[in-house]
Amino acid sequence: MDEVAVPACPANGLLVRTLWVSVDPYLRGRITGKRSYVDPIPVGAVMESTAVGEVAASLHNDFQPGEIVTGLWGWQDYVAIEATRVRRVDSTEFPVSTAIGILGMPGMTAYFGVTELCAPKAGETVLVSAAAGAVGSAAGQIAKILGCRVVGTAGTAGKIEYVKSLGFDAVLNYHTDRPYAETLARMCPHGIDCYFENVGGELADAVFPLMNTWGRVAVCGQISQYNDRSRDIGPRPLTEILVKQLRVEGFIVSRWARRFPEGRRQMALWLKEGRLQYRETIYEGLENAPRAFIGLFHGENMGKALVRL
Ligand code: NAP
Repeated sequence: MDEVAVPACPANGLLVRTLWVSVDPYLRGRITGKRSYVDPIPVGAVMESTAVGEVAASLHNDFQPGEIVTGLWGWQDYVAIEATRVRRVDSTEFPVSTAIGILGMPGMTAYFGVTELCAPKAGETVLVSAAAGAVGSAAGQIAKILGCRVVGTAGTAGKIEYVKSLGFDAVLNYHTDRPYAETLARMCPHGIDCYFENVGGELADAVFPLMNTWGRVAVCGQISQYNDRSRDIGPRPLTEILVKQLRVEGFIVSRWARRFPEGRRQMALWLKEGRLQYRETIYEGLENAPRAFIGLFHGENMGKALVRL
């Protein structure tokens, strides 16, 4: 924690007081010191994640004090920021925290990952790992809305109940329901057409042999590997990919950034219709952001993990 003076409002920009910050698994990669699809966050810099705040002062004609905005300014109480780096949030329809949850980056990840890469047809079987989390819970519900049989995986009995309450047809507890191959085969009697992959490792290894011909795998995350320093390479899935003609595609959600307005409109409509539900696990105070972040890797959160300032 570093205490500094509140910055001045920049010329033609805004001073924003933070209300909510997001903690996300991808931040683990950003603090390894290695470049991935973005540069690492240097030691001593502000942790950069999506945030929601209230305009405290404005020197820009389009924004007034009191308005709610969202952007990528991260774990800090106040930010001096250019107006082009924030987006106004409508605070009348949904709680403003949804701008970094179901209607923000995780929601867009689920929406575009499912609709563009899994592209499931009604009646197909879709498997979603980390199904009680921000992305997984939304991805599975979207697949249900599209008429699929949806199976999830999660880590506790409470999460299994929650995921079932969202309409999933079956949920595997990855701590207890072993061997995975047998449990998944029982839960997916017609095989798996789409795998929305959030976890990786042993669980993913068990999925490939159950994939149907022409199946699609949307590789969204590999959370079981983010802290893993071992050199265990696991089974090699290329033969399964070949003989079943699978399409396996990794993605970073920002590839659809230009289409986020469309994604937000659709997700907002489903929320209003009651066809989509979401949950938040809220930590209080910026000082608890590290704990909230580490909690992601111990399954502490149900739905979107957020810090309220
Ligand atoms: P989240 O699912 O809300 O939280 C992480 C969850 O992962 C935990 O609650 C935990 O649930 C599960 N988990 C943690 N360690 C695990 C392990 N070793 N094995 C199995 N499950 C484990 O997080 P999220 O923000 O929605 O992200 C979910 C995944 O999507 C992550 O892999 C993330 O990196 C990825 N993601 C990708 C993009 C993209 O653009 N590609 C964008 C956003 C997120 P349990 O209790 O069930 O273990």
